[in-house]
Parts: sequence; C-alpha cells; structure tokens
Amino acid sequence: MEKEETLGKSDKRAFEKKLKSNQKLALERIYRLFELAGSNEKYSKRYLMLAKRIGEKTRTSIPKKLKQQYCKNCYSMKVACEEKEPFLIIKCKKCGKIKKYGIKEKDHKKTAN
Ligand SMILES: [Zn+2]
Repeated sequence: MEKEETLGKSDKRAFEKKLKSNQKLALERIYRLFELAGSNEKYSKRYLMLAKRIGEKTRTSIPKKLKQQYCKNCYSMKVACEEKEPFLIIKCKKCGKIKKYGIKEKDHKKTAN
C-alpha cells in the first residue's frame, strides 16, 4: 500500500513536469513558426495557423509580442504598429484590419492612484 501511494505521488509530479516541458517546447515551436512565417510570406498563413493550433493543443498562450506581429483576419505578417497611448494600434497592410492592444495593462494599478 505504501509503495502505491508514493508511486501515485511521483506520477503526478512527473505529469506536471511533463506538462510544463511540453509547454516550453510548444513555446519554442511557436517562436520558430513565427520566425518562419516572417521570412516566408507564401506560407505565413500556414505557419501561423499551426502556431495557433500548437498553442491551443498545449494550452500555451502565444506571447503578446508575437500576437502583435500578425493580422488575425488574414494571417499576414505585414502589419504596421503605431503607439497611441494607452493603445498599441496594429494595422494590417494587406486587408486593412485594425486591432487595438492596451499597452499599459501592467501599470494600471500604479496609474489609477
Ligand atoms: Zn489582414
């Protein structure tokens, strides 16, 4: 009985560790896919969709920095960034879609006072 208990515990720990390393790997892949998408316009949509799918599958959120580099509408990497506080405005050069990101989220508490 004792043995079983300890085995169960270590199994759980191993699973958690595995999950984290999976996410780490997923993140590495996502970065790589974004890199590829940026250098190969023809396949950028495919790479970005794949990156998105990896993120969903492994429950890894795509870093904000990367999210701001492509258009969610047409998956083009040709976007123009413009800072207009408190927003970061991303405009797609291909389809004209405009996306706003809040850039002062983390300082929100500070500025509230
Ligand atoms: Zn677009």
